[in-house]
Amino acid sequence: MSGTTPLSAGPFSGWLREMQLALEIGCGTDVPCGDCVACCSSSYFIHLGPDDQAAKRRIPKELQFRAPGLPKGHAVMGYDEHGRCPMLVDGKCSVYEDRPRTCRVYDCRVFAAAGIADAGEGKEAITRQAVRWRFEFPTPADIRLQAAVKHAADFLRDHADLFPDGFVPPNPTQRAVLAVKVHEAFLEYVDDAGRAKLPAPKQMAQAIIDSLE
Ligand code: SF4
Ligand code: SF4
Repeated sequence: MSGTTPLSAGPFSGWLREMQLALEIGCGTDVPCGDCVACCSSSYFIHLGPDDQAAKRRIPKELQFRAPGLPKGHAVMGYDEHGRCPMLVDGKCSVYEDRPRTCRVYDCRVFAAAGIADAGEGKEAITRQAVRWRFEFPTPADIRLQAAVKHAADFLRDHADLFPDGFVPPNPTQRAVLAVKVHEAFLEYVDDAGRAKLPAPKQMAQAIIDSLE
């Protein structure tokens, strides 16, 4: 499924529901990846949290390193000289059924959802895949929901200085995910055509912070 042809990402509201659930409980997202392995070969450090016991048992100990700045129980796995995860074997994840939560919830459709056209430096293969996704908008609710996610992503990018240090991640993937998490704070300001009339930036920033509490 590699190439440049557009890919169906499905109806937006259905995707958003699944993504929110995945982020909340860590269940897998059902991305129709085909033969793409871009996110497994894009120089990501894979977080292994305390809940990733099955993954930790499968991944050789010598590939697990203490996660900087995080308490005991958190580890990371690096990548090889080509940026590939060491668990990627013959083009497939060799621990797929026990893959870490980070991998289970990764869904490059989040870039298309948030209107972010660049997955970041060194993530060109993901960018190429992410720009292929096309959502469907069968109802006004689908349009409104995506507009809320996009406005959230734009607001976080443009007003990072209004938030506590570290609140807005510099990494485009995490910023897109944060936009999904906080989009509900934007819904009351977005109409069915996707147009937004936002309050003053400081008020909007506070609403975003409150929405996560
Ligand atoms: S980049 Fe997207 S399509 Fe490719 S493997 Fe990752 S999640 Fe699947
Ligand atoms: S553990 Fe599996 S899914 Fe996760 S990055 Fe490695 S190969 Fe990909």
